[in-house]
Amino acid sequence: MRGKYILVSVLLALALLSMLSCQPSSGRSEKSIVVTYSILGSIVQELVGDKATVTVSVPNGLDPHESEPSAKDIEAINKADLVIENGLGLEAGMEKTLQAARNSGVKFFTASDYITVRHVGLGEGIPSGDPDQVIGAPDPHLWMDPIAMKSVVSGLASVLMQDLNLDVSSQAADLGNRLDSLNTEIADTVAAIPQKNRKLVTGHESMGYFAQRYDIKLVGVIIPSLSTQAGVSAANLAALKKAIQDNQVKAVFTELGTSPAAAKAIGDETGVKVVELTTHVLPGDGSYFTFLRNIAGVITNALK
Ligand SMILES: [Zn+2]
Repeated sequence: MRGKYILVSVLLALALLSMLSCQPSSGRSEKSIVVTYSILGSIVQELVGDKATVTVSVPNGLDPHESEPSAKDIEAINKADLVIENGLGLEAGMEKTLQAARNSGVKFFTASDYITVRHVGLGEGIPSGDPDQVIGAPDPHLWMDPIAMKSVVSGLASVLMQDLNLDVSSQAADLGNRLDSLNTEIADTVAAIPQKNRKLVTGHESMGYFAQRYDIKLVGVIIPSLSTQAGVSAANLAALKKAIQDNQVKAVFTELGTSPAAAKAIGDETGVKVVELTTHVLPGDGSYFTFLRNIAGVITNALK
């Protein structure tokens, strides 16, 4: 009889426990933040830590200019407490989904609203008639400048407090200091490139913020556009070949979305080395800091 009594007691206790665990944890439910692409996602994750759930829509390694959201991504965006996007047309493939979420009242943070936007300048790239490359077109590649990212972090910390009641002010201050240090470190790295070699030819116009911050000249691009979505013509390649020779450019950098055949043709015809640059992909450790250090290291080694 006693054994039966214990068994019943245990069952009752278990039932009570399961009832308790089914109670909604009122006020303690985790906020969900969706970030459109991986590099911005890495910084957001560092900022919020375990204070919210951070999900990235475009998986690392896919092109944020091109990627379209899955049904699961769309659901996550529509249910998010906050959606964080880059803006300035980076998320071309997600635009309809983002607009629909915005229209239905989902809260948004647009990183490019918190920086000094760079515009395509006179003599940059190759005039192609592409709307992304006309003089004055806004450049979405703001993650190439750690000081721009610092402004994004500070703006986001305010919005998280205001809209989600999440206090990340001490994390924002710490991250801001680390981004300042990263900037100093990269300036020191790039200082090893002689002034006359500070010239960039890339797959598309992705390095403008970096070039502006570290005193490097943009000479031309394989795809004459701010996006990888445009095509390459024979006339573009001929103009680029001439620009490389006229400027005595040391290397051509290919990126995610660059045509390997076009890069090889430019390299073969000009005798300039072709070097891969991971401008849109996070490294193995997932860190923005490693990402930008790698970019600076690859450019410096190729041009010095
Ligand atoms: Zn790009």
